[in-house]
Amino acid sequence: MIHYNQHLIDGEMRAATGAAITTVYDSTTEEPIATVAHGSTAEVDAAVKAARAAFARWSGTSVEERSKYLLTVADALEARSDRMAADVVAEVGMPLKLTRRIQVQMPIAAWRASAAQAAEALAEARIGHSLVTKEPVGVVAAITPWNYPLHQITAKLAAALVAGCCVVLKPSELAPGVVGALCAAALEAGLPRGVLNIVWGDRATGEALVAHPGVDMVSFTGSTAAGRHIAATAGGLLKRVALELGGKSASIALPDADQAAVVKHALSSCMLNSGQTCSAFTRLIVPEAHYAAYREELRAAMANLRVGDPRDADTRIGPLVSAEHRNRVNAYIERARQACHDDISHGAEPALPPRGYFVAPAIFGRVPIGSELAQEEVFGPVLAMQTYATEDEAVSLANGTPYGLAGAVWSASAEHAWRVARRLRAGQVDVNGAPFNARAPFGGFGASGIGREGGAFGIEEFVELRAIQLPQ
Ligand code: NAD
Repeated sequence: MIHYNQHLIDGEMRAATGAAITTVYDSTTEEPIATVAHGSTAEVDAAVKAARAAFARWSGTSVEERSKYLLTVADALEARSDRMAADVVAEVGMPLKLTRRIQVQMPIAAWRASAAQAAEALAEARIGHSLVTKEPVGVVAAITPWNYPLHQITAKLAAALVAGCCVVLKPSELAPGVVGALCAAALEAGLPRGVLNIVWGDRATGEALVAHPGVDMVSFTGSTAAGRHIAATAGGLLKRVALELGGKSASIALPDADQAAVVKHALSSCMLNSGQTCSAFTRLIVPEAHYAAYREELRAAMANLRVGDPRDADTRIGPLVSAEHRNRVNAYIERARQACHDDISHGAEPALPPRGYFVAPAIFGRVPIGSELAQEEVFGPVLAMQTYATEDEAVSLANGTPYGLAGAVWSASAEHAWRVARRLRAGQVDVNGAPFNARAPFGGFGASGIGREGGAFGIEEFVELRAIQLPQ
């Protein structure tokens, strides 16, 4: 049992003073594995004051100097890779092999990529007789979720720090392992005091941070409901916000698409991390004339979805993060059954282990666009299939939710798929299963958020522009 009971404030680990804690459970064994102390308003205040005090000096350092710190943090994190992977597997439930690559190696690479891209992202520009400079926005409150904890923390911290901002991070209380490693890495890297502060806690700690007058910008990743609340508070105080929120992303199979490839991708994307992925393609939109064929192939593919211990090499789907979340997802599945959608996976579900927060993957067909399953983010292993008669209808279905995080289009003609991709109101659209690009901007339209993370665009989120007019 590990007790995360010290906050990183002003360059040192300080014992938490409040009594409130969250207990973290292993999602496979259901055994308690850690406790996380909740930062009080006094601790939030001390962290923000430390960040403010550090800002003048840190924002005056060169991009090269800040980039070097990022590289040192990356090295210090890398030395803790195995431990971080084991913690994410235990807390979040993602299978180990994928965890190592997606939850650990990719974020470490992103610290290094931010260092490499900073000079380009922060370069000054001449516009006529004006010199446009990019100034750090100030003190940033970073608030992150549990599903890809190091990735989401990195997307904010590496970009904000290299832009010259000082940060107070309030990570999710449900996935503390990588944060423990980050505290150690920040101290080992010798980041100047106050530049990065980490206050553990829950929603109340996050709310205190958002409302603190010393915070200039809030960068939040999490649910759309919490994002709205945070944006309302930040709006009242005229703080900048960047919001990475939920999704209900759709994959469109055009009539000439490679059905086997579409089905493989639909399942691997939707079921990745047990469906606990904001940009998962949780809707598959196929031609009405091909519905029966897709239905059959999806049902047959269920046999490959082995649910089990995420530490086992042949497990495809691990448990969900918590008992509460498992119950929420199961309730969505039950309501979808009652709604009489075509219950494609019924009877073909894999067996579940006797313990752990497991959910049997579910696939529903003929899901009307107005239904709960088509409109709401389940955040579990649940795929909804919809059908169309015309291409316009396919696009309208894909765009038919308040969200707009991701989209996918499949066709034998990449040019045709590309034309349809341009019609999707989503922040990133993949053609024929093209992979994630960490250097491309990531973020959403509509209820999926405001702003972008990733690469040079992600660094630019953390700057104010200043135009200096020069005499002619
Ligand atoms: P959540 O909104 O419950 O919590 C996210 C973080 O915000 C946690 O640290 C939490 O303690 C804090 N928080 C919650 N309410 C708050 C409030 N009112 N004020 C300040 N802080 C608050 O989300 P979660 O359950 O941790 O994560 C799952 C959600 O995150 C899903 O909806 C998912 O789609 C979304 N998500 C989005 C992205 C993206 O990049 N678009 C990435 C990952 C997850």
